[in-house]
Amino acid sequence: MKLYIEFEKCCGFGECIALAPDLFRMGGDNRAQLIGDGTVQPAEQERARTAAFACPAEAIEVEE
Ligand code: SF4
Repeated sequence: MKLYIEFEKCCGFGECIALAPDLFRMGGDNRAQLIGDGTVQPAEQERARTAAFACPAEAIEVEE
């Protein structure tokens, strides 16, 4: 699984970071960033899907 963030959509509320702090962090521009290259290990995949679903801006894309 791989994650992508559409940065222009991100509104910086941080739901993704609260739900999956191992996968997302806040950037200096108040938009979420991926930690690493966005590749998600199997143990983290359910949390990644939860974070993507919770994003109010639909800014997180999940490639299965
Ligand atoms: S949940 Fe969505 S809008 Fe909020 S910080 Fe994460 S990517 Fe940005």
